[in-house]
Amino acid sequence: MEVLDHEQIKQVFEHEKRPPVVPNLANVDWGVLDYFGWIHPAGHQGYVVVPLANDEIRGLVLRRSIASVRKPRFEMCSWCNHVHQSSGTAMFSTIVRGSDERKTVGNLMCRNLDCSLRIRNLCSDPPSYMGETIDLGNKVSRLQNSLYRFLHRSNSLYAMES
Ligand SMILES: [Zn+2]
Repeated sequence: MEVLDHEQIKQVFEHEKRPPVVPNLANVDWGVLDYFGWIHPAGHQGYVVVPLANDEIRGLVLRRSIASVRKPRFEMCSWCNHVHQSSGTAMFSTIVRGSDERKTVGNLMCRNLDCSLRIRNLCSDPPSYMGETIDLGNKVSRLQNSLYRFLHRSNSLYAMES
């Protein structure tokens, strides 16, 4: 994705009641990212910034829940299709815009919001337990489609009217 600066990311979240603290961007390798995601230091929230095909960007605030006791089992990230052996995913949910906080949508996703690194095998932990033969280009478009679908489901695909 294109390089974003601190100001641009802040702007994406300016309508949020509690805007996130934007992390240090000095070491971000934008070239290997399809979306920019980070986790609040307290661990209960995640944030994603998603570039759209028309060069606009969207942001989502996500609530993160990690099951505390869990039997080892395979879990697949619904954004990047990476298969984790155990504890690699978390449930992320967001409030549907315009629902007066009554509706949420959620997905099981990579717990550190690092899908882009996973599809490029840039994570140090084990590769996906379900090997795939599709090439990176297809993995990228599948991830992008999942992101757009999630934005659509949470009613966040269109710009917020200010
Ligand atoms: Zn993922």
